[in-house]
Amino acid sequence: MKGAAFTLTVPRSIDEAIACLTEAGGDARLLAGGQSLMPSIAMRRVSPAALVDLSRVAGLAGISADLDGIAIGAMTRQRVVERDPQVIDRVRLLAMATPYIAHVTVRNQGTIGGSIAHADPTAELPTVALATNAVMLIRGPDGARSVTAGDFFGGPQNTALAADELLVDVRFPTDPPGSRCAFVEFGRRLGDVAVVGVAVMIIADAEGTITEARIAISSVAPTPIRVAAAEHLLVGHLPSQALIDASADLAARDLDPPTDLNGSGAYRRRLTRVLVGRALAEASFRVSR
Ligand code: FAD
Repeated sequence: MKGAAFTLTVPRSIDEAIACLTEAGGDARLLAGGQSLMPSIAMRRVSPAALVDLSRVAGLAGISADLDGIAIGAMTRQRVVERDPQVIDRVRLLAMATPYIAHVTVRNQGTIGGSIAHADPTAELPTVALATNAVMLIRGPDGARSVTAGDFFGGPQNTALAADELLVDVRFPTDPPGSRCAFVEFGRRLGDVAVVGVAVMIIADAEGTITEARIAISSVAPTPIRVAAAEHLLVGHLPSQALIDASADLAARDLDPPTDLNGSGAYRRRLTRVLVGRALAEASFRVSR
């Protein structure tokens, strides 16, 4: 199958890119790494009249840090993210999860912005964005706005982005003091899509009592989700195996995951219970900073 014909524009600035989107009147797609968009076009799942290539837009790639966190330009390649020393040191979940995306060849092309904007519920980076309370900086014809990860994802390929807006960067807060993280995922083969993925961050005080817990899960709903009841159960306690088991039970209890070629909904629910337990144990028994 061949994709439908489209026009291609190659803007040099963010303003030019937005103007291209506006001109296309909602029938354009931004082209980042092309790792999701081009297969979708080839299979005619989408047939935009225009593609706006972001590869020459100034200021969209790169990683910068300040006291609060790091900002990663939307066009920063996933392979760059996973190897960046600031990411490894300050946003550990991001460094842990990125290598689970496909294979190096895909990560060499795929961008952080493309993954977040594509909003695949099985994807690693949206799940990490949710667990880390990341913030998306968006630009459109009316200026800039920020949207937290919790408000950003609406479903597969559905986000807070309007048709004439682009994602400029993703801002990750520095891991809080006393935080411990784990990312676990099960796929049928190395590099395959996640049947279920779990990102966990536990924050504890000097005595080891959990003051905040975040559990984000992929592939069990139309968006990555947090499981509030399972998180709340952990707060105010020292980690123990019994506590972890109870939290993992709660995380899986109310899920209604989809059935597809990779697994049934019932299997995904059981797998979630196992992986949440595993991630919580891994994070709980890691040495705090
Ligand atoms: P593109 O494909 O160029 O764009 C994707 C969508 O995002 C398009 O709709 C585009 O218009 C929009 N977009 C891109 N940039 C912006 C922006 N700055 N602002 C607004 N909208 C934008 N992903 C995973 O997470 N896990 C996997 O295991 C995985 N396995 C894969 C295996 C294979 C074989 C392949 C080919 C891909 C796989 N992917 C996987 C997808 C990969 O991570 C993609 O790189 C990612 O989903 C999209 O990033 P991209 O830069 O390629 O974006």
